[in-house]
Amino acid sequence: FAQRVETFGTTIFTEINVLAQQYNALNLGQGKPDFDTPADIVAELVKAAQSGQLNQYAPGPGVASLRQAVANHAARFYGLNIDPDQGVIVTAGATEGLLSCVLGLVNPGDEVIVIEPFYDSYVPNILMAGATPVFVPLHPPTWTFDPAELRAAFSSRTKALILNSPHNPTGRVFTREELSLIADLCIEHDVLVINDEVYEHLTLGDAHYVPIATLPGMFERTVTVSSSGKTFSATGWKIGWAYGHPAVLEGVARAHQFTIFAVHHPTQEAVAYALNQSDHYYDEFRSMYEGKMRLLMDALDGSGLKYRAPEGTYFIMADFSDVFKGMPRDFTHHLIKEIGVACIPPESMYSRDHVHIGRDYVRFSFCKSDEALLQAKKLLGKLR
Ligand code: PMP
Ligand code: GLN
Repeated sequence: FAQRVETFGTTIFTEINVLAQQYNALNLGQGKPDFDTPADIVAELVKAAQSGQLNQYAPGPGVASLRQAVANHAARFYGLNIDPDQGVIVTAGATEGLLSCVLGLVNPGDEVIVIEPFYDSYVPNILMAGATPVFVPLHPPTWTFDPAELRAAFSSRTKALILNSPHNPTGRVFTREELSLIADLCIEHDVLVINDEVYEHLTLGDAHYVPIATLPGMFERTVTVSSSGKTFSATGWKIGWAYGHPAVLEGVARAHQFTIFAVHHPTQEAVAYALNQSDHYYDEFRSMYEGKMRLLMDALDGSGLKYRAPEGTYFIMADFSDVFKGMPRDFTHHLIKEIGVACIPPESMYSRDHVHIGRDYVRFSFCKSDEALLQAKKLLGKLR
């Protein structure tokens, strides 16, 4: 195979799913809901597929109704003024959106700043573009970055910074102050931001999500990527989007044309319907997850694992150092085989130099039925 994929292993999500299945463990690993997409949204997909009009190629940049819905959603929740024709591209999930951003905006030899721990596709994307990742770690237990380390990551070769808020896997939602520091440095060094906001509607407690594109001077230098997977519990649909200033989106559009060209047609209509739903949907979605978060926290409380309540996402990072000596991968194997619960060890979310920073932690997902989370309490109680 090609040199560009030589260092790529199997994704940790696939690896843990196989092991969890083999040992019949309760799977709190991959962020994949074990419940279905809301029935009214699925009905829109069925209706679109049966209309007899929508089973051939969609327009490359996405169907007009969905591009308009993405623009309306950004105006409604964030006060952003997006051009639905030139400022939105519908992508095959956020995953393709992120890849098209990197391929369309970053040159070989450029540097891209990545905050650690990171979602696992960012670094392979950067490497496939021939660019170099430069890492800035979040420090536990608060998962905050050191402003001096952030500043030091910028160089004359920095082209972009990949941001993810709410943040997988730590559950952080970056504050306006943290984002302002990032924004100031990006403006000073003329750097683009690729903002992954797939958990935008998954803020918990008092946390408030601020898109970096809304900060002064940032709209022109930010591409924002999101997805229907999390917000509509439809991770299998793989419909995402990128939006921003048309001048920046042009690079993304060119890469998208020749990777995917167009994405699944009828599903785009169903996602347009879903995005246009009333506030009631989004409020109920958040409160459903607050309930699930409490169930997982309750399960962890009885286990000897330490954690901080997440500010967003459906993940909790838990510190296992009081109950197990070893690396996160070893603990994960122990948990799957001896306790019957699967989680995600974060080694593959770190550069080699920084992997020690996450050495006491594993990630649990709570996008699971209440029954599964109650079962987790029984099982994790055996850790003590
Ligand atoms: N970014 C982050 C931070 C994620 O957690 C995920 C989903 N696992 C993605 C991107 C990918 O989203 P999609 O399934 O829409 O491609
Ligand atoms: N985003 C999901 C997670 O972080 C899984 C994505 C995947 O399986 N690639 O768990």
